Amino acid sequence: MSDVRNVIIIGSGPAGYTAALYTARASLKPLVFEGAVTAGGALMNTTEVENFPGFQDGIMGPELMDNMRAQAERFGAELVPDDVIAVDLTGEIKTVTDTAGTVHKAKAVIVTTGSQHRKLGLPNEDALSGRGVSWCATCDGFFFKDHDIAVIGGGDTAMEEATFLSRFAKSVTIVHRRDTLRASKAMQERAFADPKISFVWDSEVAEVQGDQKLSGLKLRNVKTGELSDLAVTGLFIAIGHDPRTELFKGQLELDEEGYLKVEAPSTRTNLTGVFGAGDVVDHTYRQAITAAGTGCSAALDAERFLAALS
Ligand code: FAD
Repeated sequence: MSDVRNVIIIGSGPAGYTAALYTARASLKPLVFEGAVTAGGALMNTTEVENFPGFQDGIMGPELMDNMRAQAERFGAELVPDDVIAVDLTGEIKTVTDTAGTVHKAKAVIVTTGSQHRKLGLPNEDALSGRGVSWCATCDGFFFKDHDIAVIGGGDTAMEEATFLSRFAKSVTIVHRRDTLRASKAMQERAFADPKISFVWDSEVAEVQGDQKLSGLKLRNVKTGELSDLAVTGLFIAIGHDPRTELFKGQLELDEEGYLKVEAPSTRTNLTGVFGAGDVVDHTYRQAITAAGTGCSAALDAERFLAALS
């Protein structure tokens, strides 16, 4: 059993690094698969983070993640910038396969693979992320005081983002590709009653415009094909998230939207010795601090599980 680790962590956002820090400090020598392309997680793609406690003047997303990484490493976490491409989590000893085909074994596995926000798929979208384009009103709304903002989407999230943003914004325009909303009646009514919110129906974004900063949108009416301009300096894309759970299908229980199911408030999944934390579990809060919080819970759950084995 000498090649069997105590714990393997899959994913390296705030949840993964926090789980790594806690399990490393508990002398469990965690092996962390950080991901090949996006080691550090979602905050590697953003600019300033103003709502992570402890940083009075804010901190750049990549710097925050570098700090978390270094802190976990300081206590002995082994960090590997590689993807996990296969898992077998069903037995007492779990196996995790990396891209070179090497099989790693562990008694416990913590899944912190995060979720991916859906994109419009337009050329300028990524380049202007953090420069007017955002996927999170709670994170970035504060930066858009007195701006004209567009929110894309027609579900509950889009309505919630729009009503939240109307507190700060000069105006909020909801752009939706159909002529009715998917959002719940209550959310719709709140949005309809808000004097700062207006709607552009049957329309999609054809172009995200701007050089260093967002300067506007070109919209296309999906029924007539007609193009129009919308002058906005903020764009919030609220067309959904995809949890990264493909790897675990058929082994770990997922909900109808593909999120990992846990026995909340614990982080235990349906499989003994497997724990889930962060945005891969969380539909609701999706913040760095909540991901770090549940990453801590998963580490403590794994620690207790391992202690009970010996
Ligand atoms: P993630 O950060 O998504 O990390 C998951 C990690 O798992 C990734 O590194 C990925 O590569 C890795 N992974 C996935 N699959 C595999 C695999 N098969 N093998 C190995 N690794 C894998 N929150 C705030 O609190 N404040 C903000 O200001 C803020 N700004 C944001 C700005 C942007 C642009 C975005 C996208 C999000 C922002 N958020 C913010 C939300 C915050 O980033 C997330 O809530 C948080 O990162 C979730 O952490 P996580 O650890 O669950 O997942």
